[in-house]
Amino acid sequence: MNEKMQRFLDTCTDSDPFLVVDVDIVERNYLELRRLLPLARVFYATKANPAEEIVERLAGIGSSFDVASPGEIDLCLNSGVTPDRISYGSTIKKKTDIAFAYGKGVRLFAFDSDAELEKLAAAAPGARVFCRVLMECEGAEWPLSRKFGCSPRMAADLLVRARKLGLDPYGISFHVGSQQTDLSQWDSAVAQVAQMFTILHDEDVDLRMINLGGGFPARYRSDVPALEAYAQAITQAMTKHFGNNLPEMIIEPGRGLVGDAGVIQAEVVLISRKDYEDDRRWVYLDIGKFSGLAETMDEAIKYRLLTPRDGGPTGPVSIAGPTCDSADILYEKADYQLPLDLAVGDKVRILSAGAYTTTYSSVGFNGFPPLKSYCI
Ligand SMILES: *Cc1c(COP(=O)(O)O)cnc(C)c1O
Repeated sequence: MNEKMQRFLDTCTDSDPFLVVDVDIVERNYLELRRLLPLARVFYATKANPAEEIVERLAGIGSSFDVASPGEIDLCLNSGVTPDRISYGSTIKKKTDIAFAYGKGVRLFAFDSDAELEKLAAAAPGARVFCRVLMECEGAEWPLSRKFGCSPRMAADLLVRARKLGLDPYGISFHVGSQQTDLSQWDSAVAQVAQMFTILHDEDVDLRMINLGGGFPARYRSDVPALEAYAQAITQAMTKHFGNNLPEMIIEPGRGLVGDAGVIQAEVVLISRKDYEDDRRWVYLDIGKFSGLAETMDEAIKYRLLTPRDGGPTGPVSIAGPTCDSADILYEKADYQLPLDLAVGDKVRILSAGAYTTTYSSVGFNGFPPLKSYCI
């Protein structure tokens, strides 16, 4: 944690849990990705953290944006983003929302089905469209599963049909799964896409763009490969499968830009045991699954925790949130250890919490306020 962040946390007198994001770190992460992948246009996945300060900063240094709703489109436009820097990357859109985007000048849309293509043809005539293909997401800590994308052979048919419907079949997208630590995933994905470019070329459809999605990591409890290694895996995959004929490249980092830029400060509400001989303590925090830590679902994302008593002896704990819902347990199986002298009232800092937290927070379950956020 840098000095600026440390100072803010030490002097903040908030009694409710909050997230603080250092926007300079977001900027640095963006510039680093640009440096490592100079041929790729960066579309920030707005949903990862839509704080105005973050969107404005990224807008100011040239980023483009991946959005999924009229709300996110307005957010971007109000932050000075021109519509040619917006990609409507959700494959699940209402026709009225497509029309809204089109009316605002957005001309780039994702789809993964025939029915969505029909909607696009009607509400966004002539727009550039790209088809999302299904990925296995193996190795990802937060897989995006089978919900998005279609098989390559269906995607090829749909792209041919897109042209018949008066749309511009622009390219293909995939997402290897969020917090992806298996770098070989990009190679197999790019291989599939390159093959589709060839198949479609034979159908007289010349695609121009590959959208490599997100998947770039934040540093949670386990180590992750360096960003350089990600960039290298992507660059190697592109040259191996496309040779000198590189298409336009798009990446859509969310977690990788904002995750490590944020810290949550929470407080210990209760420490207890379930029986006299239990050596496992239950540590209840004033933040849980319903106030921002939804990605602890199935203990998928394992945040690093700091306490004021680190350094001394530790013991096993289960960690839970404050609400009256038994689903509100953060970690029971993931072998978390906390200091034996941890006490009620201690502040707990949750590191790398800048992505997918504030917006996952409920509006007031059990009367607890939504997660506050500061940008510094
Ligand atoms: C959420 C999302 C992303 C961002 O994924 P990260 O793994 O957080 O980088 C990128 N693209 C699309 C289409 C998304 O829905």
